[in-house]
Amino acid sequence: MFSKILVANRGEIALRVIRAAREMGIQTVAVHSTADSDAMHVRMADESVCIGPPSSTQSYLSIPAIIAACEITGAEAIHPGYGFLSENANFVQVIEDHGLTFIGPTAEHIRVMGDKITAKDTMKKLGVPCVPGSEGGVTSLEEAKRIGEEIGYPVIIKATAGGGGKGMKVAQTAKDMEKAFQTARAEGKSNFGNDEVYIEKYLTTPRHIEIQVFGDGKGNAVHLGERDCSLQRRHQKVFEEAPGPSITAEERARIGKTCADAVANINYIGAGTIEFLYENGEFYFIEMNTRLQVEHPVTEAIFGVDLVREQIRVAEGLPMSFTQDDLQINGHAIEVRINAEKLPNFAPCPGKITQYHAPGGLGVRMDSALYDGYSIPPFYDSLIGKLIVHGRDRPEALARLGRALGELIVDGVDTTVPLFHALLAEEDIQSGGYNIHWLEHWLETNLGDG
Ligand code: ADP
Repeated sequence: MFSKILVANRGEIALRVIRAAREMGIQTVAVHSTADSDAMHVRMADESVCIGPPSSTQSYLSIPAIIAACEITGAEAIHPGYGFLSENANFVQVIEDHGLTFIGPTAEHIRVMGDKITAKDTMKKLGVPCVPGSEGGVTSLEEAKRIGEEIGYPVIIKATAGGGGKGMKVAQTAKDMEKAFQTARAEGKSNFGNDEVYIEKYLTTPRHIEIQVFGDGKGNAVHLGERDCSLQRRHQKVFEEAPGPSITAEERARIGKTCADAVANINYIGAGTIEFLYENGEFYFIEMNTRLQVEHPVTEAIFGVDLVREQIRVAEGLPMSFTQDDLQINGHAIEVRINAEKLPNFAPCPGKITQYHAPGGLGVRMDSALYDGYSIPPFYDSLIGKLIVHGRDRPEALARLGRALGELIVDGVDTTVPLFHALLAEEDIQSGGYNIHWLEHWLETNLGDG
């Protein structure tokens, strides 16, 4: 059993990990930049170490500083949270070279899934359905045009190393191919230092459905159903729910088993998410995230499990505490991401919180590192809280979300809370009838955001 772990992150996810560790009787070490000396994760951990100046490159992304913090405090394992170093294979390698444990998958799993062509190729071989497209990288415009004709327009050109929605361009017709191809390559080169691209059929009205998987690293794996994360702005998720309103029990069992078998096959260890686009009853793999996701609490709510506790257990070599048969869905859960941003353009809005009151009551979970008088620093992500509600069914969860949003007070900065009040009044949200383009259209029509 670990006696002490270090959390290489900040904000709500650092608290999330500290809470799980404390319930397991494990001591925690927080790391922080000089801008975060007063942050909640520093206050809540048993110990803390300052690892550098505000810039994340010199603090939360500094591998030597984090390893040094481990050595100073005697922490035996590192939980990376999400973002920052959570999908950095080199970080995992360095941790292992120092005789420490990374709470997450192996460097090799991260490497394979971090390259989109290798990831797609691996998944295809493991029997996971993929979007039709090029076999591997496409190097010339002629080849790109030939593939466009073959699979049929519209197509999407994607940088192999891309992420966060960067390095992706749609060609509606053959006419657009040259520009889309060159732009995707240039964006890949400038953002990720790699101009390799591949081509996929562009699906016009899909939903974003992702499957939560969990492996013990010894060939055993389970799935914890799906999350529907179709409500996105600029490829960033803002509202997530589980189960997916459009997914049947039969579809869940089938795609879930395919995913669990695939990760069992590669001896995957820890939490992972296999992302799909879903259209006309078909699933198409787009990528795998080899870490805990921001939206994991909706899955925890409906399955009644603690995914972080499970991550720590398997990292110690213990078995998972549940089998596939133990995992039964109970009710419906929704998460909304509360960002310090000013509508209508979602401009980041850091500043001092003059009043904070978290909602409570039955079926309400607020994961946030805010407190009265806290100053949100301007250097990091604008996510300041996640409100998660759980009800017996979807209508109850929606009603509870409205009630909880009404109780929440965040004064001193602008937030995305008004967006969720407005969305709850929409018929398509109430009925679950939305796809990945719905929110962008709604924002353009209602807020002039485009
Ligand atoms: P990133 O790593 O940049 O997040 P993804 O491959 O996960 O890139 O895709 C992000 C989003 O882009 C998806 O959620 C979806 O909205 C859109 N997208 C990606 N591939 C396709 C496709 N083949 N057809 C339609 N939309 C797509």
